[in-house]
Formats: sequence, structure tokens, C-alpha cells
Amino acid sequence: MASTSEETPAVQPVAPIQVRYCEVCSFPLEYCEFGSSFTKCKEVLRESDPDLYDRYYSEEALQAKLGTLSLDAQAKLEKDTAKKEAKAVAKADAALKKKMASQVTIKRIERNKRKHVTSIHGLETFGVDLKKAAKQFATKFATGASVTKNPQGLDEIVVQGDVSAEIVEMIEEGQGVLKGIPSDNVVEVEEKKKKGGS
Ligand SMILES: [Zn+2]
Repeated sequence: MASTSEETPAVQPVAPIQVRYCEVCSFPLEYCEFGSSFTKCKEVLRESDPDLYDRYYSEEALQAKLGTLSLDAQAKLEKDTAKKEAKAVAKADAALKKKMASQVTIKRIERNKRKHVTSIHGLETFGVDLKKAAKQFATKFATGASVTKNPQGLDEIVVQGDVSAEIVEMIEEGQGVLKGIPSDNVVEVEEKKKKGGS
């Protein structure tokens, strides 16, 4: 495409801003409200230039003006809301952390294709004697159960076999030493054997 510098520039020159002065108070029209003859100013303008009158004093124009004002109020409101929300999030976070700290985790661990063990962590938080609980599990399932330290150095009970569902049930029913643990605090998780390991 050929171009010549002779062509008309695409940008149109901006028309100078025309300030209209009020016939009554002699202020620019947008300042009439600060004069002492505002009512008269409006009356005269409505007579002499209804369009201009509408631009300044129509329902719409006044609404727009109010809208601008309430935008500031809205911004403040949004800021306050964001603050409140952040507080709520922090609170929920703290509550979750607290809950996690008081959680009984029952983990089904796959040792190999046919062998599972079940680890139970967190019973001591509810005042359960871990040795007694291990003994209760061993008796109940006629299997091995012992108190050991997990990789994080925390005490847990390890029961041979996949008995996680049964243990959840025992806790829900509050059997023996498992009395008084809220079932809401019980979390069941599954640990799959890592692929490729043997
Ligand atoms: Zn005026």
C-alpha cells in the first residue's frame, strides 16, 4: 500500500473546550450551584437552552453525579469487605490447623499386592492410651498391632491387615478405650504403594 505524507492525519484536531457562562450569576454553568442564585440560574437556563439544562440537571445527569459519589463509597465498602474476608479466611485457616492438630488419621497402607497395614495416628490427642488401644485392636482383629514411631517421629499404632473401615466404625461406636472421639475428627486416608517400587 502506497502512503503519502500529504494525506490528512487520522487524528482529528480536538475541539477547544467551550465554557458556557451563566447569564444570571456569570459563573461557568457547572458552578451555578455555588452561587447565590442557583434556583434562578436553573430557571433561566431551562428557558434559554433546554438541552443544556438537561445535560446538567436532568434526572439522569443527577443520577450520574450521585453514581460517581457512591463509587467512592463503594470503593471504601469493597476495601472493608476485603479486610473482613481476609480476616475470615485467616480464622478458618487457624480453625483448620487446630482441627488438623486434633485429628485421628486412619491410614490404609499397601505393603504389596496382598498385604496391607493400617496406621492410626492422633488417638493420644483424645486421651487414649496407645498401648491399650493397640491391644484392643490386636484382640478385636486377631492380628498384630503395635505402637511405633512414624517417620515424623510421632507415635502411631500399626495394625496388620486392612482394618481401616472397621477402626472407623469402632471409633464411631466408641468401643472400649476409643470412647469420646468425635467422628468428625476422624480422617481416613489411603497410601498406595509407589509405582515401580518392588
Ligand atoms: Zn448561574
